[in-house]
Amino acid sequence: MKTSAIIGAGIAGIASAIRLAAKGHRVDVYEGNAYPGGKLSSFERNGYRFDAGPSLFTMPQLVDDLFMLAGKNPSDYFHYQKLPEICRYFYEDGTRFIADAEPEALARTIEKYLGEPAENVLAHLKESAVKYEVTEKLFLHRSLHRLGTYFNRDALKGYRNLHKLDAFRSMSAANASRFSDPRVVQLFNRYATYNGSDPYQTPATMNIIPHLEYNIGAFFPKGGMVSITESLVKLAEDLGVTFHYTSKVEKLLTTSNRISGVTVNGRNLDYDLVISNMDVVNTFRKLLPEARQPERVLRQPKSSSALIFYWGIKKQFSELGLHNIFFSRDYPTEFRYIFQEKTIHHDPTVYVNITSKYEPGDAPAGCENWFVMVNAPANDGQDWDALIAETRKNILTKLSRQLGEDIENLIEAEDTLDPRLIESRTSSSQGALYGNSSNNRFAAFLRHANFSRQFDNLYFVGGSVHPGGGVPLCLLSAKIAVDMVN
Ligand SMILES: Cc1cc2nc3c(=O)[nH]c(=O)nc-3n(C[C@H](O)[C@H](O)[C@H](O)COP(=O)(O)OP(=O)(O)OC[C@H]3O[C@@H](n4cnc5c(N)ncnc54)[C@H](O)[C@@H]3O)c2cc1C
Repeated sequence: MKTSAIIGAGIAGIASAIRLAAKGHRVDVYEGNAYPGGKLSSFERNGYRFDAGPSLFTMPQLVDDLFMLAGKNPSDYFHYQKLPEICRYFYEDGTRFIADAEPEALARTIEKYLGEPAENVLAHLKESAVKYEVTEKLFLHRSLHRLGTYFNRDALKGYRNLHKLDAFRSMSAANASRFSDPRVVQLFNRYATYNGSDPYQTPATMNIIPHLEYNIGAFFPKGGMVSITESLVKLAEDLGVTFHYTSKVEKLLTTSNRISGVTVNGRNLDYDLVISNMDVVNTFRKLLPEARQPERVLRQPKSSSALIFYWGIKKQFSELGLHNIFFSRDYPTEFRYIFQEKTIHHDPTVYVNITSKYEPGDAPAGCENWFVMVNAPANDGQDWDALIAETRKNILTKLSRQLGEDIENLIEAEDTLDPRLIESRTSSSQGALYGNSSNNRFAAFLRHANFSRQFDNLYFVGGSVHPGGGVPLCLLSAKIAVDMVN
């Protein structure tokens, strides 16, 4: 029986453990924290439950696949429902509407509230689907660093359609040429933030992202996002995987071109292969400091990070749903602040996620659990304490004005997450949410591969490597990596 060690019980680490166990390996997962899930975890404060990180669940079939791969029925472990609405939008000019989940209904709503012809929205979503079809087989399910990826039927078909990816202008330029109303441009530019990018720099290829929400669907897992982690840990344990918590891997042991094992809590342990779910920058810098460092890849600019306020609110708001966006007045300036000035604008776009809308037990009766997030730059040593205090004040002013209530008076439980904490809790380089940014058209090729060129039995998974960050891509990274294991 082959023995495998996995560094980190983030979602990609857990998925890798399941895939290796299904291949017959004996698998140990070493996790530095006392809990699994990394960014995909949850906590409680004064009777309120909060998902700590991800709040939007797309592509649930990638989770189901893991149960089926193991010969189990997904519904014995994990339940989710398709959302009837995608998001509630609030603009500074007073416009507000609910974005329906179905493309036709969404297009009609946008026409009604923003005056944008419905056919423009439908054409955009159709093009988004085409982009997805072109990229899916070529970029998302395979390593970009193996020749075979470029010489097969899917790839050859993909090459004929490469122009459809619209890689030579920015997402915002493409959206501005499609839509006449700037509020619609802002709405579809928002999708750049789904991988931590800047809509004014990231290529229009990223207009692939709305396809996931509108054409495939947005979902809510019963029990909140953390149930993805919990159900997969349970599956892994049922397959014989052993999780070791508060067990930080301190070093990777090497013999010429192989990894011979890991050092955990001062003990050297031998393994046949190792998968690192630790951010690839820190895997090299901290666990392999003497190995050749792939500098070009490790030094790529990082995606955005986030500042999150978890607020227990002693009131319910009928105008709010599960996902709510309060747009800034000046989107280009907001992103210039994040990516050039590396700070947060005084009028940021505010995202409010309220799981108690679907899970009433997540908040006391008559109350709501607000996860309030703004995009923030990656950690470059900014004065975060000052920035947090200032941003908190700005958010409270904005939400109080938009909702006609003094929100600060309603907060009865509170916690905060900032880029420094994301970095220290998950070892993500600079606290970036999605590894490297995707602000140029070569970004996909400048992410680290899912395997090591130096060490035959070392693999990489998770948001810092190919195909990228976000829960679905992390799950795909595990598939790509473990498919390479003999
Ligand atoms: C605030 C926030 C909001 C987000 N929103 C969304 C969203 O709505 N939808 C979405 O799809 N994605 C979202 N994301 C991104 C998503 O959470 C991540 O892409 C994904 O969870 C990353 O998973 P991962 O497998 O890379 O591991 P991570 O979650 O980064 O976990 C890595 C794990 O490895 C452990 N580790 C690291 N080094 C070591 C070591 N040396 N030894 C032992 N253990 C180690 C860490 O403790 C950690 O548990 C969000 C992220 C954040 C933070």
